[in-house]
This record gives sequence, structure tokens and C-alpha cells, in this order.
Amino acid sequence: MSKPIPVTRPLLPPLEEFLPYLEQIWSSRILTNGGDMHRALEQALCEYLDVEHIALFANGTLALVTALQALRVTGEVITTPYSFVATGHSLLWNGIKPVFVDIDPHSLNLDPAKIEAAITPQTTAIMPVHCYGNPCDVRAIEAIADNYNLRVIYDAAHAFAVRDEGGSILRHGDLSVLSFHATKVFNTFEGGAIICPDEKSYQRINHLKNFGFVNETTVVAPGVNGKMSEINAAFGLLQLRYIDAALARRKDIDRLYRECLEDVPGLRCVPLQGQSFANHAYFPVLIDEAFALSRDALYERLRAQGIMVRRYFYPLISDFPMYRGLPSSSPASLPVAQGISQRVLCLPIYPDLTDAEVEFVCTLIRDGSGKGG
Ligand SMILES: *Cc1c(COP(=O)(O)O)cnc(C)c1O
Repeated sequence: MSKPIPVTRPLLPPLEEFLPYLEQIWSSRILTNGGDMHRALEQALCEYLDVEHIALFANGTLALVTALQALRVTGEVITTPYSFVATGHSLLWNGIKPVFVDIDPHSLNLDPAKIEAAITPQTTAIMPVHCYGNPCDVRAIEAIADNYNLRVIYDAAHAFAVRDEGGSILRHGDLSVLSFHATKVFNTFEGGAIICPDEKSYQRINHLKNFGFVNETTVVAPGVNGKMSEINAAFGLLQLRYIDAALARRKDIDRLYRECLEDVPGLRCVPLQGQSFANHAYFPVLIDEAFALSRDALYERLRAQGIMVRRYFYPLISDFPMYRGLPSSSPASLPVAQGISQRVLCLPIYPDLTDAEVEFVCTLIRDGSGKGG
């Protein structure tokens, strides 16, 4: 294998199929501000994801920032250190103090058993992440939120199309936020969305993503410009035609990895949990002392062979300079997240990854473990 193998690769339908969408945009002369493509993608995603209302955004980070504003969240918010840094940044952009709580060692999501101890009179909300698309313990989180009258905003950036027994995972909490970044399961180059439970919150979010305008002359809030353009929405519509095949291929790759890596000493594939439909957005493995190489030595060895594995999530959000000084960032209070962050490696997974490439990655890992052949 001579070409580098990235950790993820965007789903790109045939270019010629995009041209009719472009022609439609050109002839309409509407490039943004809720044109036909935008409306059609919101409708199509509501149907595909089985949710009531979805507000499209220019990216997932602006959607997170706006979700917090829509619910008027202030003070302190309980969240996970084991996520992409945008989760924490959305709180800082709103002047909110993040309070990091440790994760569960199996799901790698916010540990509900540790939330209550972190609640103070300033706490107004919880922002959990469905990490790698594995659903949080939504029932336990809901019970705590109800008990303490807290809002729940799920960072569901990894959870496109994930379902539990009752339906879409995105129906839980007050709001859920998706990312459609190029590296995600479903992408619009850049993009994101907020799943809203009712028409009222959908309307408020629409105002907030358009400078706070409610009509030509009335501005009701200092909203951002978070709108998705017509060209991004059109690409989303095209991609929806291919998403089922892409998800099916991801599932096959996931199964192949688990078979190939089953008996490697010191390597554990993170199990799927609590989902009736998984999206296989990532393929994380955990490396411990029984493996012949350290996690970082394995990382270097694979990178040297052109396998662009990533350490998602290392460092923890709580270890970045703008978070490190917070009382809840102390490594001693986040032992599980610290440990997982030192051991995790995400392997390549994307729809056009071939079986031969998966087997090549597995062979290199098995050689590294001393368990070749
Ligand atoms: C990708 C991601 C985001 C940010 O989304 P963008 O669309 O890149 O702004 C937020 N949270 C998590 C967990 C992510 O993985």
C-alpha cells in the first residue's frame, strides 16, 4: 500500500450529479437566507432522521453556541472533558463556566453517577456528548436534569442517524446539535444543525442564527450569522441519496476490524452500546500494558506506514490552556478520562476504505503486538 490511508474520508457522490443542483441555484439567484435548497434539506433531514424540526447551520460550533443562547443558559454547565474542543469552546463563547465531570469507562460518555456531586447553585445545564456515536445514558441524565431543573443540550456531532429502541437518539434532551463537517458521517463540506422539539424553539433559533432578525426592521437578540448557504444545503441533498449505502459499508468495516483484532493481547475494541442502529462514525481501540508497544509507539509506527490514525481525544479539553486553571480540570478528578485519553487510538473508517486496506492496518497492528500472522 503506497497511498496514505486517512482516518476519515468524506462521502463524495459523482460530480456530475451535483451540476443540476448548481444550475437550479444559478437560475434562482438565491444563494443563502433560507432558499429552496435550505428548505428542502431541512424537510429531507426531518424525514430521514425522524425528528420534528431541524434548523440548519453553517457549522456545528455555531449551532452549539446558538443552542446555549436559545435556552438562555448561564452560570455553570456540566460537561465531558473527553470530546472535541468545540464542546468546551461553545460554553466559553457564551461566558459560561464549564464544569468537567469524569466519563464512564465503558461508554466513554459523561458518567451520570458523578454528575450530582458537581451541581452547584450556579448550575443551569448539562452538555453531554454521544461520543463516537455511542448514546449517552439518556434516561439517567434526564432524571438528574428533572430533579434539579437543569437544561440538557446534547452535543450529537457524532450521532447522525443513531437510534435507540424508541427512535432517533436526537429526540432526547432539550436540544441536540449535529455537525456536518467534512470529517463526519454526513457532511455538507461545513455545516451543522439543531434538532428542536417544537415550532417555538425552532423559530427562536431561526432568529438567533440570522442576527436576531424577526422581520425586516426588528432585531430581538444579538444573534450571530449562522446560516447554511444554498450550495452547502444542495450538497447535503445529493449526499442523502448515498447515505444508506455509506452507513452499510461502515458497518461491514466495523465488523471486519472486530474479527481481525479480536485476539490481539492488550488491544480492546470499544464496544457498541445502547443503540438499535449505530452509525460506525469512528473505530476507537484502547491499548494497554499487555500490548507490546505503547499507544504512542503504535501511533508512530502506523503513521510511518501512511496510516493516518488519530488520538481522539488526546489531550482532554480540560488540559488545553484556556481550561487548565478551572477547579474541575484537575487530572486527579478525571482519572477515567485521563486514562482513556492515554490509551485511545482511532483507526481509519470511511465508506470507500477497502477490505484489503482494513486487513493491512490489522496486520501492522498484529505485527506491532508481536502477534503476527
Ligand atoms: C466536529 C465536532 C464539533 C464541531 O463541529 P463543526 O461542524 O466542526 O464546527 C463539535 N463537537 C464534537 C464532539 C465534534 O466532533
